[in-house]
Amino acid sequence: MANSQFDYVKSFESMDSCLPNCWIVVRIDGNNFHKFSSKHNFKKPNDDRALGLMTRAARSVMELFNDVVLSYGQSDEYSFVFKKGTKTYNRRSSKLSSVVVSQFTSSYVYHWKEYFPDLQLGYPPAFDSRTVLYPSDKNLRDYLSWRQADCHINNMYNYCFWNLVQSGSTKHEAQERLKGTLSSDKNEILFSQFGINYNNLPQLHRKGTVIVRDKVTYASRNALRKVRWLNGPPLCRSKAQSMLLALNIDIIGKQFWEGNPHILA
Ligand code: ATP
Ligand code: ATP
Ligand code: MG
Ligand code: MG
Ligand code: MG
Ligand code: MG
Ligand code: MG
Repeated sequence: MANSQFDYVKSFESMDSCLPNCWIVVRIDGNNFHKFSSKHNFKKPNDDRALGLMTRAARSVMELFNDVVLSYGQSDEYSFVFKKGTKTYNRRSSKLSSVVVSQFTSSYVYHWKEYFPDLQLGYPPAFDSRTVLYPSDKNLRDYLSWRQADCHINNMYNYCFWNLVQSGSTKHEAQERLKGTLSSDKNEILFSQFGINYNNLPQLHRKGTVIVRDKVTYASRNALRKVRWLNGPPLCRSKAQSMLLALNIDIIGKQFWEGNPHILA
């Protein structure tokens, strides 16, 4: 350990340990992805390759940090939930958010070519990151509900907007057409003008992606439908393996939480 006359400057660093016994959420979000998505010709309103790459990068974060019990992603964002008692980096907020976002970003770049084999990455993307504490289970569930509600609201707007644009409206006209509309109006536009029943659109787009950990046996594999095995499929027949499962389901209602009580335990 160095001992010099300069050591005192270390004491200028601020203590930023997260309050004990709170859920720690780190949310990352693409920096100026409006531009990044258009430069890389993302399919509008939803490019499934880009969503797949986001989930691939989220998997890397969950593989690095065992204490992340759940993550939720949509559009250019992902939220990582650290268990209440985590001791990772002594709960230092800046350490947690910086390592999460740099692992996420490097993984996004590292895996780019698997998701966009025909398109070279045009420039290095950046993501921002923040740490937020939630003291109660209700606060945490409300946080996740907020993100999933945001997914739904934006998705409905974007489906209307891009269908209007792709059928000849200018972006300005599409914006004006949608100004002040309610969700029921947007449902109606989608249905009567474009023959789209909103509820039949892919769950990936309407619900976003939740990644959870589960102990899964080979036998139970077939029982779990609609599941994408991020680090699987489970191969071992004799003992349960710890798996990362990606689901495109509702996490606002109680069904998900009652079915997965280990997450909040
Ligand atoms: P900021 O830096 O403030 O976050 P931003 O341009 O990233 O600015 P967001 O509110 O984060 O703004 O919106 C993300 C943008 O990226 C939206 O314009 C969205 O349409 C686009 N985008 C992200 N993911 C996808 C995707 N999978 N397919 C199509 N477009 C996407
Ligand atoms: P932490 O995650 O706590 O930072 P760390 O292993 O990165 O752990 P550091 O104190 O940051 O610990 O030390 C950096 C390590 O990386 C040292 O072991 C150092 O020898 C090695 N290292 C970094 N850069 C180089 C380099 N250019 N050449 C050789 N070794 C390097
Ligand atoms: Mg160092
Ligand atoms: Mg933002
Ligand atoms: Mg963004
Ligand atoms: Mg965003
Ligand atoms: Mg180091």
